[in-house]
Amino acid sequence: MRVVVDLTRCQGYGQCVFLAPDVFTMRDEALLYDLQPAAEHREHVLRAAAACPVQAIHLDRTALPMPPPGAQEPRSAASGGDGRIVIVGASLAGARAAEVLRREGFTGSLTMIGDERREPYDRPPLSKQVLTGQVPPEHTLLPRLREVDAELLFGTPATGLDVAGKRVLLADGREIGFDRVLLATGTRARPWPDAAEGALHGVYTLRDARDAAELRQALAAGPRRVLILGAGFTGSEIASVCRELDLPVTVVERGPAPLFNAMGGVIGDVAARLQRDHGVDLRCGTTVTALESDGNGRLRGARLSDGSTVEADVAVVALGSVRNVEWLRDSGLAAGVWGVTCDAGCRAVDLNGLVTDDVFVAGDIARFPHPLYEYQFMSLEHWGNAVAQAEIAAHNMVSDQAHRWPHLSVPVFWSSQFGVNIKSVGVPTFADQVVFTQGSPEQGRFVAVYGYQGRITAAVTFDQAMWLEFYQRQIERAAPFPPDFRHVGGGVDGEPVPARVPERLVAAAGATVVVTGHDPAERRASLVHPH
Ligand SMILES: Cc1cc2nc3c(=O)[nH]c(=O)nc-3n(C[C@H](O)[C@H](O)[C@H](O)COP(=O)(O)OP(=O)(O)OC[C@H]3O[C@@H](n4cnc5c(N)ncnc54)[C@H](O)[C@@H]3O)c2cc1C
Ligand code: SF4
Repeated sequence: MRVVVDLTRCQGYGQCVFLAPDVFTMRDEALLYDLQPAAEHREHVLRAAAACPVQAIHLDRTALPMPPPGAQEPRSAASGGDGRIVIVGASLAGARAAEVLRREGFTGSLTMIGDERREPYDRPPLSKQVLTGQVPPEHTLLPRLREVDAELLFGTPATGLDVAGKRVLLADGREIGFDRVLLATGTRARPWPDAAEGALHGVYTLRDARDAAELRQALAAGPRRVLILGAGFTGSEIASVCRELDLPVTVVERGPAPLFNAMGGVIGDVAARLQRDHGVDLRCGTTVTALESDGNGRLRGARLSDGSTVEADVAVVALGSVRNVEWLRDSGLAAGVWGVTCDAGCRAVDLNGLVTDDVFVAGDIARFPHPLYEYQFMSLEHWGNAVAQAEIAAHNMVSDQAHRWPHLSVPVFWSSQFGVNIKSVGVPTFADQVVFTQGSPEQGRFVAVYGYQGRITAAVTFDQAMWLEFYQRQIERAAPFPPDFRHVGGGVDGEPVPARVPERLVAAAGATVVVTGHDPAERRASLVHPH
């Protein structure tokens, strides 16, 4: 039996903990659960899923007393009901899109191509329950929400996309034809820039189940000290696990505070205190300049930009991610270090900025305009976005223009670290001010609301997830900032302060776009790669 909880929805009221205590547990406000509970817990889990007030608990269809309704009425060929659909990238976005295509009445041939050999699995537990040893990495498979009749080509990387010829090229030489294709190849961990240092025994990255299994083994062996490079969400969660395992840990962060790039300096300061209070040796405004070998190919430690050294036998490079776009290099699509550009309906944009008809994009790889944020293009590496965008993309793939939907969901993200359930809604870096509306950093529980030019654009909660939905509505209706305190808990004496968010940097490395031609009929954009 497989279980996944949509933690973007979960409000932490704990009915599931009450009804299935062997499967769900609550640590303060953070919900932890067994992703593959034993059959004997089935009844309890079914009751918990039925009782969850926000229907956040998703179960494998095989666990359900009655299978979910099959496809809707089959769609006619004219409205996209048949033909060949290929999905490239068999993870969260790809798997959800496949389920929605069948739910929407798509009866044609469906092929899923993925370079991993495993069935689609859930990544968030990899930096949490899997590293602590509570959940084995092989117990993270995503529940199959419904029957998906599809050809599964797992362990088969795609190497090219021929948009005009409607073919996906595979590494084994095969070519898979399509009428419509969904690109969902996500991201991978950014490696340490010095390949020889990165290859030292004891240096890890964390993106997939194998990485998690290896890192878990290294942590379980009881290293003298763990060094973490980068204090974003992944680095901070791994630091939290290290402290939970009572391992000494040093975190080196280039920016002024942990989580700064995602949430700005005000919350960054709170996160820094949280880490230090839990015994993390946190060094901000500092970088690692070299990883050092012991002379036998093993990591011995690292040199830092402030001239100091750290001795460590495990290092985790948590410096963000790289989008898996190389296979699209000759596709003619606007695909680069920024991801694959698409419109709000998930249709890919070509190099000239024209929207394509048959190529769709979803998940971490997508870069799309969001009307709530001045139509700026954004790439979100969020579980909730991958699911929501995959659902929109799948719907649009089988709908005509008049019935297509825009992807307008407000971004939601969660993280659990140092016993705190951190959640955000909206885009916290799209802000000039922030104010604490409920609780306070001193209490360790609060809501911080972000505003941009007089309207609410985001909210971050520490152990106050129940407020998230309220602020989501405020963001959706562009409610004024600062919020009217009479409506939000009252008793708040805080004044808005500068949000101290990072400059919005545009990724530029990798390739340059040039425009050639004079006549409008011949003007074209093309990518110029450095090599
Ligand atoms: C350790 C970790 C912890 C996380 N924690 C959280 C969290 O707490 N909260 C949250 O909101 N989000 C979290 N996330 C983010 C969330 O897991 C991602 O947003 C989500 O996995 C994105 O799904 P995706 O399908 O778009 O991409 P991915 O999950 O990256 O899947 C892409 C798939 O495509 C495959 N692929 C790549 N190139 C090719 C190719 N050429 N041919 C075929 N297949 C290819 C990849 O191997 C992969 O299987 C976490 C991610 C990680 C790694
Ligand atoms: S909202 Fe649902 S999943 Fe979350 S704690 Fe409550 S019952 Fe459990």
